[in-house]
Amino acid sequence: MPVNTEKWKQITEELGSRVTLVAVSKTKPVEDIQDLYNLGQRDFGENYVQELVGKQALLPHDIRWHFIGHLQSNKVKDIVSFVHLIQGVDSIKLLKEVQKQAAKAGKVVSVLLQVHIAQEETKFGLDNEELAEMSQRYSEFPAVRFKGLMGMASNTPDSQKVEQEFSRLKSLFDLYASSAKDNWQITHLSMGMSGDYQTAIKQGSNMVRIGSLLFGERNYLK
Ligand SMILES: *Cc1c(COP(=O)(O)O)cnc(C)c1O
Repeated sequence: MPVNTEKWKQITEELGSRVTLVAVSKTKPVEDIQDLYNLGQRDFGENYVQELVGKQALLPHDIRWHFIGHLQSNKVKDIVSFVHLIQGVDSIKLLKEVQKQAAKAGKVVSVLLQVHIAQEETKFGLDNEELAEMSQRYSEFPAVRFKGLMGMASNTPDSQKVEQEFSRLKSLFDLYASSAKDNWQITHLSMGMSGDYQTAIKQGSNMVRIGSLLFGERNYLK
């Protein structure tokens, strides 16, 4: 199935300039990415390091690559040289590794902190205490720029529940955005996917990660 360029146009118009669209291209071929690139899309999201590294080498170098979802610490070194935004950092261990590899590469790497907002769905994401800890310790990680929060709502038809989860993340975002200093600059709120991006925007999202609406359903579960 080819990429849905009409849908891309519709969504980019709907989002306007206030909400960034990250086109999630995981499992999809480079031709599909190139098609959206040709229309003007520049932010793409992947969540498998091997796949991301392979695609990055083949595609235009002004693409802004977002690593989305859980990142294994031992893979950080493979993407640190080119990644635009790591969404999201979900442990101190990963944060330490990003700091280490970024410093080694002489770079400052931008990250979003992934917050656990869904019920049971995934084990990844920081709880309130861990998030608070990072907000205290940001200065220990000078090669990291803390740019915002990211979260995934429960995968449920219960839209009220999804709304509540997004609303909770927005409250945390407002809290941490208000304490900007040095490399702690919380301005991005990444929430919303194909099934719930409109709800997320109503709750204050300014970055959505959309895959299947643009590229079609993925053939295998990833
Ligand atoms: C796959 C994925 C998306 C996109 O999901 P769709 O439902 O296809 O839009 C968004 N965020 C993360 C973290 C993902 O892994």
